[in-house]
Amino acid sequence: MSATTLDPLREAVPRLIDHPQLHGRQLDSLSEMIAKTRKFARESIRPRALELDRIADIDPGHFPWDLAAEGAKLGLLNLITPRPSGGDVDYFCLRASLLAEEIAAGCAGMATLFGAHALGLTPLVVGGPAFWDGVMKDVAASKDDVRPTIMACAITEPTAGTDVEHHELVRTAKLVSRAVKVEGGYRISGVKHFISNGNVARWITVIMPEDPKNPYETTLGFLVGNDSPGFSVTKVEHKMGQRSSPAAELTFDDVFVPNDRVIGRPGDGTPMVAGVLAGSRPVVGGIATGIARGAYERLLDWLENDPAAAGLLDRQQVQISLAKMYEAIHVSRQAYLDAATEFDAVSLGKLFGNSLVKAFGRMPSAVRTNALAHRRLNSDLSRRLLMQVVNREVGDDLLTQSLAMSSLAKARGGDTAMWVTGLALEIAGLECGSLRPELEKCMRDAKLCQIYEGTNQLNRLEVFEGLVAGQSMHVLGDAVAGMSTSNGSTPKGAVV
Ligand SMILES: Cc1cc2nc3c(=O)[nH]c(=O)nc-3n(C[C@H](O)[C@H](O)[C@H](O)COP(=O)(O)OP(=O)(O)OC[C@H]3O[C@@H](n4cnc5c(N)ncnc54)[C@H](O)[C@@H]3O)c2cc1C
Repeated sequence: MSATTLDPLREAVPRLIDHPQLHGRQLDSLSEMIAKTRKFARESIRPRALELDRIADIDPGHFPWDLAAEGAKLGLLNLITPRPSGGDVDYFCLRASLLAEEIAAGCAGMATLFGAHALGLTPLVVGGPAFWDGVMKDVAASKDDVRPTIMACAITEPTAGTDVEHHELVRTAKLVSRAVKVEGGYRISGVKHFISNGNVARWITVIMPEDPKNPYETTLGFLVGNDSPGFSVTKVEHKMGQRSSPAAELTFDDVFVPNDRVIGRPGDGTPMVAGVLAGSRPVVGGIATGIARGAYERLLDWLENDPAAAGLLDRQQVQISLAKMYEAIHVSRQAYLDAATEFDAVSLGKLFGNSLVKAFGRMPSAVRTNALAHRRLNSDLSRRLLMQVVNREVGDDLLTQSLAMSSLAKARGGDTAMWVTGLALEIAGLECGSLRPELEKCMRDAKLCQIYEGTNQLNRLEVFEGLVAGQSMHVLGDAVAGMSTSNGSTPKGAVV
């Protein structure tokens, strides 16, 4: 018996209610998207989850193109694409997080595959309207392709992981990569590792400093095609869990990046990473909640239907354990829903409702794709204007709180996924037949949720700073102050 036969009232699925940020048509369209994605996860992903896990154990670079294509048709590769690029961005963090839960309940690796793609797009989204054409449009247009255009985001280096994901620790990060300004663009060199989708991505957004000894002041973003001379995939990782999403080491050997693919100015990288993580950590909370829910649903099915489990469900100890699992799943979900709603309603997501940003978005594509217009949109003046919008509409304090809420959701989710999958295995024991490999996979998948997008330790530091101590990151404050100077020096830290 499969989880699809569970009584809907007893499934540990989200119950969406009308609330001020989400109502009427928005709620209807979100519910419809969730239903479609749940069907995709249950009918297409879950039956293949173990097979994909085994294939990737032998061939770690394996990429399930057919499932990626099926998901693309549903819109899962366009979750954060702005409207002018062919997307449908309203409440995008909330929607991406809820859909991540659905996919992860079937197979967490597949949820990471779609999530890492969205992570690759995010620097382009926060890069401003100058980046909402070209590659972003190609990605949106590839949704019906047999091999849709896949993205990746490369921040981590072999010597720098946790530190490059924190706005203060980054100051002392031991980065090795370097971007050198040259005529017409930059030349970038270095190694990025553990990059999800890295071996199959057509485009990679790369975060790199001009001066590796001074990353806080000099980091910026680059959009690199996988056909660029000097780019190579030098290793594919042998993963413990979430294997249907490959992770690779990428080497950039003096890769030329033209000016129109340079995202931001030196110093923009740190707030850009903070903005990306504020939006992506609730999605990890969703993935983690989905893993826990998948383990719970599989266990409940087995307890109710497998003769080997006869009598177990009548034991109070098992009943209490199931109730605690349900409780933990519910709390994790509330944590990511809160964080995602905050991101969409009062933090960076809100910018898409700003009239200036909308006006940029409404410009005809032909105007935006024009080289001169692109230069103007990506000019210091446009960036200052947008930065002022970010500062007025969001500001440092809200951004800090939103990042901390996202960290809370991510850390809570990761720990819940580990705890629920462990308990499910304990209850099922050794003699649970075909359930055992499924639960084992859920537990291996869960571990990654405590590591990527910043380890849970780092995320709890963010919770301490933003929510317990109430400290502000002051990233935007510095940036705005830097912009108001007329000495022409490069402003420090601009989000868009
Ligand atoms: C499968 C996988 C996929 C990934 N995908 C991507 C991707 O697509 N793109 C990308 O850029 N990165 C990716 N990552 C990288 C991921 O974000 C990093 O692994 C993570 O940030 C941790 O960095 P690290 O591995 O260097 O660990 P380290 O930073 O070396 O940390 C090791 C340990 O020390 C602890 N620690 C470190 N500093 C502190 C501190 N100041 N205070 C307290 N404890 C501390 C950590 O919590 C951890 O327990 C991926 C990683 C994995 C494993």
